[in-house]
Amino acid sequence: MKINRNFDNLVPNYLFADVAKKTNAYIAAHPDKKVIKLGIGDVTLPLAPVVVEAMKKGAEDLAHKETFKGYPDYEGYEFLRQAISDYYKSFGVAVGADEIFVSDGAKSDCGNIGDIFSKDNVVLVTDPVYPVYVDSNIMAGREIVYATSNEANGFAALPDENVKADIIYLCSPNNPTGSAYNAEQLKAWVDYALKNDAIILYDSAYEAFITEDLPRSIFAIEGARKCAIEMCSLSKTAGFTGTRCGYTVIPKELERDGHNIYATWYRRQATKFNGVSWPVQCAAAAVFSEEGQKQIKENISYYQENARIIASALDELGIYYTGGKNSPYIWLKCPNNMGSWEFFDLLLNEANVVGTPGEGFGENGAGYFRLTSFGDRENTIEAVERIKKVLTNLSK
Ligand code: PLP
Repeated sequence: MKINRNFDNLVPNYLFADVAKKTNAYIAAHPDKKVIKLGIGDVTLPLAPVVVEAMKKGAEDLAHKETFKGYPDYEGYEFLRQAISDYYKSFGVAVGADEIFVSDGAKSDCGNIGDIFSKDNVVLVTDPVYPVYVDSNIMAGREIVYATSNEANGFAALPDENVKADIIYLCSPNNPTGSAYNAEQLKAWVDYALKNDAIILYDSAYEAFITEDLPRSIFAIEGARKCAIEMCSLSKTAGFTGTRCGYTVIPKELERDGHNIYATWYRRQATKFNGVSWPVQCAAAAVFSEEGQKQIKENISYYQENARIIASALDELGIYYTGGKNSPYIWLKCPNNMGSWEFFDLLLNEANVVGTPGEGFGENGAGYFRLTSFGDRENTIEAVERIKKVLTNLSK
């Protein structure tokens, strides 16, 4: 037998393992120090009470013959898809309940969607990048081209007419850079995709963090229904990182190469996926209820305030950064032209604060650093004070 040799082409990414190794070694050598972690991309606040209640009720349903549920619909229960459709409507975007697929999260959908596309397509990702887009396509053996995100474009890469791509991954608000596209920038990508007969795979996992007047969906852009698929997640929106639920939207009219994309993805899901559990779909529907929206927004506001605290310290220090406003991530330029790992060591050793070196997210991340706002308030404030002290001393 032979294994998929494309796996040999994966670049070993030890980023988080190396971060953990260095952090643990420091803690072991300095047990008296309080190390604060601002590197985590996981939420820390619990599920909203209304969500927990719905999940408990869903579990209770499974305990009785009259209310027991077996296999769910492949595309998710109608009540949840309708709730998601109504949610889109609340910010002015028309998406039909019959265009939504409920899933166990955006990572699965981002990674699996490639199943329906030929290996011969050229994939475009923006760099720095959420690694799933790259690695899943390396596994499939596709050619990948990179669009540069840098200071010149505010870490929000735009299309280059001279580059030909068939599949385009966009993530806005972006992980890791925290930048968010405006309508004009997204329109440029939609126009590019239409012109190249390409499909945009739009990851909106952080749309709930948008505070400014920016699109919360690619389908807010004219023409997107003819060239885009959107993946979203309840992980960061409602603390579902451990609960697992997301959704993918495929407009019914989206066609390529003589095939209807909705029907093709339905066929794929029906073959390889047996749906999301009843209690989790009940919990997910509660997120979109009036009370659910109120409660999850309290958690999001908490993270947003953490982000504001970090960002305002960087403003004071005169350090360039993106994100922090419409995103839980703050992407900053390492001071004094330090490398990402050099800055990591400085913060760990001098401030006892852990962040994520930018170069782990791609070539253009070298010399940059990611902090997240998912920690608790007290620790975030303390970490920021320590960072300010270290960086002020550095510039003396
Ligand atoms: N997409 C992006 C851009 C992410 O940053 C993450 C998680 O960090 C995901 C998707 C994963 O989402 P899920 O937990 O729904 O699989």
